[in-house]
Amino acid sequence: MPEHQQDFSRYQSLFQTNIEVASPIDSSDLWLGEMDITEYDLPYVREILQQSFEDWRTETGSLPLSQHSNWAIIDHEGACAAGEPSVHALIEGPHAGLLSHCLQTRKLVSAVIDHPIDPVHEGRTLCLIPILSRSEELVITVMACILPRDISGPPGPNAAVASALHYRSCFFRRYEHIFISDVMKVQKNAEHEASRRSILFQIMQRMHDQIDVDTVLTEVLNSIAVLYPSIQLSLLMSQDHQYSNPKVRPLVFHPFGEDICVRAFMDGRLMIQDSKEKDYVEIGIPFGGKQGIYGVFHLKMTQELKEDLDLQLITMMIDTAGNAFENAKLYEQSNLLIHELRLINELTQRLNQSLQLADIYKFANEELLNIFNADYCCILQFNEKRNALEVMSCNVPSLSKDTFSKDYGFGGLVFEKKEPVILSDYQLNTKVSSKLMEVTESQSLIATPLTVNGKVMGAILLTHRSPHFFSYDNYRLLQTLSSHIGLSVSNALLHAELRRMANRDMLTDMFARHYLDEAIQHHQANDFCGSLIVVDIDQFKQVNDTYGHQKGDKILKQVSKIVKSSIRPEDIPARWGGEELAVYLPQLGVHQAMKVAETIRTRVAEETDPGVTVSSGIAEWCIVDDQVSVDSLFYRADMALYRAKNSGRNQIQIQTQTEDTHE
Ligand code: GH3
Ligand code: MG
Ligand code: MG
Repeated sequence: MPEHQQDFSRYQSLFQTNIEVASPIDSSDLWLGEMDITEYDLPYVREILQQSFEDWRTETGSLPLSQHSNWAIIDHEGACAAGEPSVHALIEGPHAGLLSHCLQTRKLVSAVIDHPIDPVHEGRTLCLIPILSRSEELVITVMACILPRDISGPPGPNAAVASALHYRSCFFRRYEHIFISDVMKVQKNAEHEASRRSILFQIMQRMHDQIDVDTVLTEVLNSIAVLYPSIQLSLLMSQDHQYSNPKVRPLVFHPFGEDICVRAFMDGRLMIQDSKEKDYVEIGIPFGGKQGIYGVFHLKMTQELKEDLDLQLITMMIDTAGNAFENAKLYEQSNLLIHELRLINELTQRLNQSLQLADIYKFANEELLNIFNADYCCILQFNEKRNALEVMSCNVPSLSKDTFSKDYGFGGLVFEKKEPVILSDYQLNTKVSSKLMEVTESQSLIATPLTVNGKVMGAILLTHRSPHFFSYDNYRLLQTLSSHIGLSVSNALLHAELRRMANRDMLTDMFARHYLDEAIQHHQANDFCGSLIVVDIDQFKQVNDTYGHQKGDKILKQVSKIVKSSIRPEDIPARWGGEELAVYLPQLGVHQAMKVAETIRTRVAEETDPGVTVSSGIAEWCIVDDQVSVDSLFYRADMALYRAKNSGRNQIQIQTQTEDTHE
């Protein structure tokens, strides 16, 4: 069968014209028009070949040429990609040479079909038209066409080439469609990402504006609920804390069983559990910040809903919330700390208003009741002599003077164990019985040891009638405050000791003269009467001269000791000056004082070594006297002493009427 080559140059120009005319490419979108098929694409274009053939068929179906010709699309491997297999069979078999010729020349080739080869198509013209790439360097496919019998000569192949060009534009339209749909997919993803980012940004801003722990949690729960209203959502928190949002619940650690929330919390990572039979999915997402994990978000949804879930976005929201929660928590803690420091400051300011122990206990009691909103406060101090705990300050009148055994009640417990105690419900407490709790019908208690200079000296107890009244923070704060109270108590004790030392004479361990003056003044203001004995060692100058000053001191101490052991506990012995001593005897008259002075005189004469004697002068005062004063009492006693000296020493003289009126 003669194969002849048609003049293709005419079609070539038609091709180019067509490309230019049909090109929908805008200069700004040149990149799409420049996209071209390369030989590497050929194994993947089969689908496009088929789709574009369908398009071409639809678009040209009504044209006579299209209707009355037989068509096939031959791919780069010579296989039939679309169209009629009978057309392809011709090319595969008897006209195989025609295809290779077409591929080689990359031009239209045609041949008339002979009878023996194909009786059906006998006498009709078979055309093969190469479909070229945009660069025209590559044959993408070959379009085969058996022209109708009535079309012969050049118009037939011409029309076939025009149809092939149409197919080619269908092909490139499909080809560009792939890129456009890719671009659209990318754009859709970018839009989705931008909206995700905008949601996240808004949530982040709102959350970081919150400085309240509760609001942060509500914010994140609401945000997820708005995005996914059908999800069952809850937040399980590991710490025992009351949150206002009902979706926040405590995380319960079951010793057995596989709870995804507990696992998510323990492992610190997201857990998903599919329950195919029940058609739902559970997700546990850990909720934490830089310092740790605080809880787990629990999401429960249908399988269908899970497909639409943007888990990455939710995780990012929860992570943001975790950081905001941590910041809010830190802010809350620092506020609490500032509040506590303010309380400590106020308390210590109040305590420092006095150095008297009784005042300090009274102030501490009032302040503690105030700070903790407690109903009752009781401060106990251990009394070593009585080996018991004494109530130093209490706002329950019936207990204010009480003393308790050191192993009784909560005071005893705290004192003995040296540890604080918190009790939420006295009714449920079976171990300790407490008079304070019972008398006041209290249910809650916080108590702490009272430590002074590192030594437990007592206990502070605060109670309330309602159960579960005190928080753990209250319990902790009381411990802090108690150390400040301890410090004030220590200052007061130190001050008392200092005063005691200032009022004492070192050598004789008797009171100093100024203390005696004040004491007499106090008694004269409160009593009916009292006496003063002035004791002076006889010829003491001589004793010093004979035995030396040191020995003199020892004798002075011996005499002081005799004086102190010859009087009642309420009498006040003092060193009046030099070797003169004085004793004030509250509520005693001169005659009773005389007996005391006589005891002193005889004991000194008997017990001192080297032996010395003493002379004494006694004076008394009475409420009915015209004038009652310390000076007058001393003057009269001194005058009586003067007489005793003049009357031969080692004797006692009582004030006379003359001395009385001398004033
Ligand atoms: P009279 O019987 O008149 O009281 O004679 P007197 O020597 O005791 O009297 P005077 O007032 O002349 O002397 C008191 C002496 O007591 C003088 C002083 O040396 C001595 N004296 C005073 N205070 C102390 C003291 O603290 N230690 C010693 N060792 N001697 C003292
Ligand atoms: Mg003397
Ligand atoms: Mg003297």
